[in-house]
Amino acid sequence: MSTAVVVGSGPNGLAAAVRLAGEGVDVTVLEAADTIGGGTRTSELTPGLLHDHCSATHPMAVGSPYLRTLGLERLGLRWCLPEIDCVHPLDSGAAGVLHRSVRETAEGLGRPDGARWERLFGPLGERFDALADDFMGPLTRVPHHPLLLARFGVPALLPAAAVARLWRTEAARALFGGAAAHAFRPLHRPATAAIGVSIIAAGHRYGWPVAAGGSRAISDALAALLAERGGRIETGVRVRSVTQLPPSDVVLFDLAPSAVADVLGDRLPARVARAYRRFRRGPAAFKVDFAVEGGVPWTHEAARRAGTVHLGGTFEEVAAAEQAVHLGRMPARPFVLVGQQYLADPQRSNGDVHPVWTYAHVPYGYDGDATEAIVGQVERFAPGFRERIVGTAVRTPAAFEEYNPNFTGGDIVTGANTVRQLLARPRPAPDPYATGVPGMFICSAATPPGAGAHGMCGAHAAASALRHLRRARARK
Ligand SMILES: Cc1cc2nc3c(=O)[nH]c(=O)nc-3n(C[C@H](O)[C@H](O)[C@H](O)COP(=O)(O)OP(=O)(O)OC[C@H]3O[C@@H](n4cnc5c(N)ncnc54)[C@H](O)[C@@H]3O)c2cc1C
Repeated sequence: MSTAVVVGSGPNGLAAAVRLAGEGVDVTVLEAADTIGGGTRTSELTPGLLHDHCSATHPMAVGSPYLRTLGLERLGLRWCLPEIDCVHPLDSGAAGVLHRSVRETAEGLGRPDGARWERLFGPLGERFDALADDFMGPLTRVPHHPLLLARFGVPALLPAAAVARLWRTEAARALFGGAAAHAFRPLHRPATAAIGVSIIAAGHRYGWPVAAGGSRAISDALAALLAERGGRIETGVRVRSVTQLPPSDVVLFDLAPSAVADVLGDRLPARVARAYRRFRRGPAAFKVDFAVEGGVPWTHEAARRAGTVHLGGTFEEVAAAEQAVHLGRMPARPFVLVGQQYLADPQRSNGDVHPVWTYAHVPYGYDGDATEAIVGQVERFAPGFRERIVGTAVRTPAAFEEYNPNFTGGDIVTGANTVRQLLARPRPAPDPYATGVPGMFICSAATPPGAGAHGMCGAHAAASALRHLRRARARK
């Protein structure tokens, strides 16, 4: 029987472990923290309320070509949809409102913007499953659906600022800009439309769901499936050197490239070590989880029913804030994401006190306090919010790094989404998961298709490891 060690139990580490175990490999997962899950942990950060520590909203997990094959619902994973996926309110009182239905979204945007929204996102949403097979993996593969991929690629490779010119109203432009800002990049740079186009298309196919009981339900279900397939997980084991690892046929690292270079040391070919050390990090997140009595008193009615609210004003204002954090300057009004997961999953609340998840985009390694900036952005669109706060839990960029070394400097997406790193991460190579050390692979969000709790990096890295095992068996 072949054996594998997976270092790190984030969604990618667990997806890799499950895929290997499904092929009869004996798998051990080693996790540094006391609990599994990496960016999918959930717990009572404030008394009596369930808060997601990291990921919250899961269009890419529910639409993940690999996770969808696993039947995780049988193991307790249940997706819950909010009534409205996302709202981006403006000072004028208008708002961009993203519904699961592309038609309803278009109707809300009015003419002619609605028609343009529907023309761009209708076909991408309808054929999202086929599209995801191609773009949620290394772009070095021959695509199954080249025409569809091209239809996605044309807007995706543009700067978000160019795509936003499709729309006339502030509301439509801001709705797209808020989604594009998930890339943590200046929005006039090439390919900054890619992540916005992907999560909107996924939303029109599946909605923007949350996991019942918190994002930890994703990793709990993966861990349960791994156990069914005979694998095991050891927590509290921080791997610092390859010499610590038990003997195995393959090793997969759910780690940032620089951490893989540290662990593998001299064994890593010099050119790979250089590429891993040069891998560029993006700006950071400063997160505040609030306990809010009565929920957030949004002025715009739709925001009171939305799972996600994007705060930052007009497209231009969001773009300026993203440019500032990219240049290392903290904007007075940063882009802020707000999650109201409890609306879809009421068990997270305690009576009329509700968990509200927020984070601001801040410069890499930012060591100031962004709490007031976040509260200010919420107050701007929900006057009276401050008086309703009954508890807070803050996680600074430094605390993110301590919590999970993959989030160095507070970079929660494990690597800047530059064009180069979007197309070839963590380094240009025919097999991006191979480290150059036979039998050793990298499977974290630093590999294609990048950040998110979709497990696709792990699934593809496991496929590479399985090919290696088959070749090794054939040689014997
Ligand atoms: C605040 C925040 C909000 C986010 N929002 C969303 C969202 O809404 N939707 C979404 O899809 N994604 C979101 N993400 C991104 C998502 O969480 C990550 O992209 C995803 O978790 C990456 O998975 P991974 O398996 O590659 O790594 P990780 O989740 O980072 O897991 C890596 C694991 O490895 C462990 N580890 C690290 N070093 C070692 C070591 N030396 N030895 C042993 N173990 C080690 C860590 O403890 C961790 O458990 C968010 C992230 C954050 C932080």
